[in-house]
Amino acid sequence: MLNWDSVRADFPVLNQQVNGEPLVYLDNAATVQKPRIVIQSLVDYYERDNSNVHRGLHALSMRATNGYEGARTRVAKFINAADPAEIIFTRGTTESINLVAHSWSKAHLKPGDVILTTEIEHHSNLVPWQQAAKASGATLKYVPVLGENAEGGLDLDALDELLTPEVKLFAFTHISNTLGSINPINEFCRRARAVGAITVIDAAQSIGHVPLDVRELDCDFLAFSGHKMCGPTGIGVLYGKQELLDKLAPDETGGGMVVTVDYEGATWKPSPERFEAGTPNIADAIGLAAACDYLDSLDRAAIAKHDHELGQLAYEKLSTIPGIRILGPAKDRCGVVSFAFADVHAHDVVTFADEDGLALRGGHHCNQPLMRKLGLTSTTRASFYIYNTAEEIDVLVASLSRIQKFFGG
Ligand code: PMP
Repeated sequence: MLNWDSVRADFPVLNQQVNGEPLVYLDNAATVQKPRIVIQSLVDYYERDNSNVHRGLHALSMRATNGYEGARTRVAKFINAADPAEIIFTRGTTESINLVAHSWSKAHLKPGDVILTTEIEHHSNLVPWQQAAKASGATLKYVPVLGENAEGGLDLDALDELLTPEVKLFAFTHISNTLGSINPINEFCRRARAVGAITVIDAAQSIGHVPLDVRELDCDFLAFSGHKMCGPTGIGVLYGKQELLDKLAPDETGGGMVVTVDYEGATWKPSPERFEAGTPNIADAIGLAAACDYLDSLDRAAIAKHDHELGQLAYEKLSTIPGIRILGPAKDRCGVVSFAFADVHAHDVVTFADEDGLALRGGHHCNQPLMRKLGLTSTTRASFYIYNTAEEIDVLVASLSRIQKFFGG
């Protein structure tokens, strides 16, 4: 059994007061806090090993290279990739998806082809496909969401009609950052394979919360951000199947990714170097590996259970507040709960809750088309992680009741 109190003690930032109240950090879908071991890995690297990687023959450069390449191997193990060469370090989910949308789409899409995505995607997994469709002449289609509060998840019956042989790529999120719904990604991958489409999974909201195994999923690409899994900001990953990466042209060119260069042209190294032009984010890759160690030491299945239970409890307790509108499914949800009041703007909710020490998020959560479809401009979002407690949900409910009273609800 995990001791969740000792987990909380691993996160120094949580031990503070905000506006005279104990900090209740419920903005985990935006970014999660960092345990001491991850912070220390960055300090250690800069204090002992800092140097540029690759091509360096001195001791520090070799240490930095070992740290950076060791991080690649560690991340490969974290998602069960077949080979570290399938792990490309990027700035985060957004850059990872853009890389596929540029490089893969340029080589493979033509007019008449279809890119399939869903109505619940974050802008990071939506705008790049709009751009790819415009550039290639392909058509972009969306799997619709069901219910006036999107409580029905995605319409899987519509998938039967949408997933035709014209679909060359199916891009979908694992967990919705607004609805808290969990997509059946195993089924999506299987059905995409059946029509010959490649799959791109946005794992930004799942990587830190649930175990992920790319070989079991048999997905083609998977993208995530370090900062949502206890790692640093500015580092993320694109996983890609080796046979696809080997055939892909680089999106960015420059130092470190070439074999030979002359005044007429250049030849590329294989993956992953081909996709990592310039000095990489060495320290944060090392920090990301420390985050993998930390999460594995806690047991990722136990993390999923903890976060999902808190999400469910929050859903149930918030449902008792009169006039609240909660988005997403009533059951089988993760630790993200997004809600709205008819007469109080989400920004007011967040500002008032801050007075009670709560960190919430209000806005469209980079889901503008989904908000518009649901007749909303914004929601307030509470999102939970390993250090949150049931008592903090009570603080949230009390704060929201106070806000409602203030606004005459
Ligand atoms: N996809 C989803 C589902 C997200 O929640 C986010 C971050 N809010 C992103 C993509 C983008 O991640 P990043 O900003 O780290 O690139």
